[in-house]
Amino acid sequence: MAKTGKIAILPGDGIGPEVTHEAIRVLETLNDHFGCQYECVEAPVGGAAYDLHGHPLPGATLELARSSDAVLLGAVGGPKWEAIQRDHRPERALLSLRAELGLFANLRPALLFPELASASTLKADVVSGLDILIVRELTGGIYFGKPRGIRVEEDQTRTGFNTLVYNETEIERIAHVAFAVARKRDGRVCSVDKANVMEVSELWREVFEQTARKYPDVELSHMYIDNACMQLVRAPKQFDVIATTNLFGDILSDAASMLTGSIGMLPSASLDSNNKGMYEPVHGSAPDIADQDKANPLATILSVAMMLRMTFGEGDLADKIESAVKTTLAAGHRTADLCNSGENPISTSAMGNAVLKALAG
Ligand code: NAD
Repeated sequence: MAKTGKIAILPGDGIGPEVTHEAIRVLETLNDHFGCQYECVEAPVGGAAYDLHGHPLPGATLELARSSDAVLLGAVGGPKWEAIQRDHRPERALLSLRAELGLFANLRPALLFPELASASTLKADVVSGLDILIVRELTGGIYFGKPRGIRVEEDQTRTGFNTLVYNETEIERIAHVAFAVARKRDGRVCSVDKANVMEVSELWREVFEQTARKYPDVELSHMYIDNACMQLVRAPKQFDVIATTNLFGDILSDAASMLTGSIGMLPSASLDSNNKGMYEPVHGSAPDIADQDKANPLATILSVAMMLRMTFGEGDLADKIESAVKTTLAAGHRTADLCNSGENPISTSAMGNAVLKALAG
């Protein structure tokens, strides 16, 4: 438990600086009203860093992230940087931060606030009360496996190839994260794989079964990825924790995010083996609404709640932030992404003000 600590704030591009600004105000409110001493130190990342220093993850930014207790990231990327060489694109900063900080576990809750049930594209009775958590392995699998590339065959045909590889240690450590987090929830883990076709998945399943023996209070089930996609849309409330690989998790978590109505509501955490983490909204830099004071800051504010709970062990403070968000929504405050037709949207800063008011009482 720590009401004190250093937090690296990496606002990034597009709406990143707007939404992180509101999250910093939340941390300042904790300092002012709840006896906390969180120190926020900002550094550029992504396109903003490329413009300033010629690299999306300058050494000083990486060093700050390393020396801090936690990282809060806004979002990176945008059309301005799409033409630059791949190694210097803003999105590379994310991959490098994950790899350099050893952030192997990505946790994405998909939680539907009852006040927003009508914002989902699915029927309200299918999604109301939805509370699932996707645990995705983040630093292994097909996105990192070698060999990879595009080769030219003797007959000049080009062949593209990537390698899906996981060793037992990588599987076991993500399994531990999934079981430990399930214990604090409804105690159920559904491991998603493709064991009917792939050897890697066979090993994944075996290691999950072995690890489960250390968590007798947690129920483990298995599902193939194709069925999991279908079940997520058909009856999403059957799930508690979904644990899966980098590639399957990437796809499943984006699908799950839409169940809740707006991508502007979803926080995420990426953790190392000591629960140090990088916290960020699931959404990107939304260049279409950048600099217009329109973005929904709640995903970033809820990412701060995750940070307090998971890195600082301050569950009570996290509860306070989440309940301030609930109060704000119950009072009818909506940014444009959450509005039904006929409703009047409020600005990013007005949404931040409403949360601060609910938080400080
Ligand atoms: P996006 O998430 O930025 O935007 C998708 C849609 O959702 C847009 O219409 C946008 O206006 C809306 N939206 C997103 N966040 C919102 C918020 N907080 N409030 C209200 N509306 C919101 O995805 P995209 O358009 O595919 O990508 C834009 C850029 O962001 C690209 O350069 C992409 O590479 C980058 N990106 C970065 C991250 C990250 O930093 N983690 C993640 C995804 C995409």
